Amino acid sequence: MKPVDVGQILELEIVDLTSNGEGIGKVNGFPIFIEKALPDERVRVEITKLKKNFALGKMLEVIDPSPERVKPYAEDLYRYGACNLLHLSYQGQLKFKTNLVKENLKRIGKIDVDVNPCLGMAHPYNYRNKSAFPFGMRDGRIVGGLFAPGTHEIIDLNESVIDNPTTIEIMKYIKRTILAYHIVPYDEISHSGILRHVVIRHGEKTKEYMVTLVVRTKDIPQLTAFVENLIKAFPMVVSVILNVNPDRTNRILGDEEIVLYGNSYIHDYIGDVQFAISSKSFYQVNPTQTKVLYDTVARFANLKGNEVIIDAYCGIGTIGLYLAKQAKAIYGVEIVREAVEDAKYNARLNGFNNAHFIVGKAEEVIRDWKNDGIQADLIIVDPPRKGCDQRLLDTIVEMKIPRVIYVSCNPSTLARDLNLLKDYYQIHEVQPVDLFPHTSHVECVTLMSKVEK
Ligand code: SAH
Repeated sequence: MKPVDVGQILELEIVDLTSNGEGIGKVNGFPIFIEKALPDERVRVEITKLKKNFALGKMLEVIDPSPERVKPYAEDLYRYGACNLLHLSYQGQLKFKTNLVKENLKRIGKIDVDVNPCLGMAHPYNYRNKSAFPFGMRDGRIVGGLFAPGTHEIIDLNESVIDNPTTIEIMKYIKRTILAYHIVPYDEISHSGILRHVVIRHGEKTKEYMVTLVVRTKDIPQLTAFVENLIKAFPMVVSVILNVNPDRTNRILGDEEIVLYGNSYIHDYIGDVQFAISSKSFYQVNPTQTKVLYDTVARFANLKGNEVIIDAYCGIGTIGLYLAKQAKAIYGVEIVREAVEDAKYNARLNGFNNAHFIVGKAEEVIRDWKNDGIQADLIIVDPPRKGCDQRLLDTIVEMKIPRVIYVSCNPSTLARDLNLLKDYYQIHEVQPVDLFPHTSHVECVTLMSKVEK
């Protein structure tokens, strides 16, 4: 017997937040998850879904608000869930993130360590350097912006809390003008039309903008005229890319790309290291906080100049190159070929000849390095959300690398991986960094050193 039913309306005390930022209330120990509810609040909810071990509730009213509750900065965006923590004060968000790391380490990692307070932004708005806007038609009008969470309904976005203001202006210009060039938005259901997504990226320091038009077909007679007028209206756009994605798929980018205007990349700086970024390469989306993140890595690395460093999951080489001046050699490994090409180009761009980059899986390439007798003083791992492959962790242990810096974007896989390393490596410092204000995502840097046995 479950203690609640769908449709039931009840009052609840919120006791905690889930890792997705939903409030948790309990009826006889049975958890109910409620979006936009905060700890220490009393709320009225309607039960909307019942599962085996939990229920979902919709908030009807906040009866007693938390002192941490703030009025969302942009009601519309908030309603659509793009920023699921906007109702929580920024200090409250940082506390939530610190706690999230600590709790994951304890619960999943069986590790009880101090976690430094999460490093936040002075002005946590309009921080993104990359935005992807889906385009579509509704009632004879173009809409573009974001998918409503969990659906393919397009929300028409005309202002944003987290996107760059110029980026929003470019997106709105495209929405206003594109039909005049007979460029019709894509329709998912009939798999017809042309424009699927507009992806806009910029260099925070250089103010160079790249516009990628993701299209179903490259048969677009008036495209040249459109691009000419786009760059006239926005001279900061130094690169326009046509990305062709002819498939029925949720993936944004297709394989084929054509440069319509300017270069195939834009530039940016982190500190005084310069990076060229092409349309498909991973580059952290919050440049202000990327510097904070990499400075934390640099502080943990505490380099003397004679270290050999492995940069695993290196993307376009950013972390390794950020440290290259203070190190003897950097060996980067990354699975995406284009990113490795960017990394090599970026090493040359900065005049570093001590940085080497290889395409492949970190768990395979580093094992080969071990078999070739390569020795490293420090390995930095920065895996995607699913964390490190266990073979990589085994190799790190076997290579007896003295120090490990783990950069993680997912506290639960971080905790799982640290648990696997815990008999071999001791943790010195854990530092969360807020790269994604107003969302429940958190980035975290951990410094470890080999246990002497
Ligand atoms: N360190 C970089 C990129 C981190 S994102 C930065 O700070 O910008 C994680 C990267 O890991 C992505 O570029 C992704 O392509 C890459 N990746 C995913 N699985 C991998 C694997 N098994 N081996 C190597 N790289 C992988």
